[in-house]
Amino acid sequence: MHTVVLGLGGNEGDRLFLLNEAVNGLLQEMKLVRASAIYETEAWGGESLSPYLNQVLVLQTKMDPEETLACIQQIEGHLGRKRETKWGDRTMDIDILYFDEAVIHSEVLQVPHPQLSFRKFVLVPLAEVLPEYIHPLEKRSNKELLKRCKDPLTVGVYSDG
Ligand code: ATP
Ligand code: CA
Ligand code: CA
Repeated sequence: MHTVVLGLGGNEGDRLFLLNEAVNGLLQEMKLVRASAIYETEAWGGESLSPYLNQVLVLQTKMDPEETLACIQQIEGHLGRKRETKWGDRTMDIDILYFDEAVIHSEVLQVPHPQLSFRKFVLVPLAEVLPEYIHPLEKRSNKELLKRCKDPLTVGVYSDG
């Protein structure tokens, strides 16, 4: 069994419904170990304007990294993700943040996710669910990475209504 850490986010459509659908889709294939709170975050980069809902999940799976990527892309597609502008609005984006302690640099897959240490919307939920996990390249814990992150965007726990 492998432990995979996924970052989920979307800023288009019914964000909470889509996040729940993505989690349900993942749970068809993987076992949930831990889920962060749902956070609301200002849009990061690109042209998008509306705020995101973000969540980080720790899961166990028998799939290898490439199979996991295919699985998450299938779920994104199912939830209406279109790939238009880079970092544009999207219904669902699922990124592999960590895969066991693996370091992968292939054409289709970079693990740990290369932007992870620059993004508060990833580090805040990560530090919630895996504070002491050591980033295999940075050699620092998620908690430490969050402390050092200079990302100015606000990330707050989302409360519905
Ligand atoms: P960013 O990667 O900066 O968060 P993005 O999520 O908007 O940007 P996408 O358009 O969703 O980028 O993905 C582009 C490609 O990134 C995917 O087709 C996939 O092959 C590749 N990729 C590389 N590393 C990863 C990873 N760790 N998790 C998910 N996709 C990855
Ligand atoms: Ca992403
Ligand atoms: Ca992605």
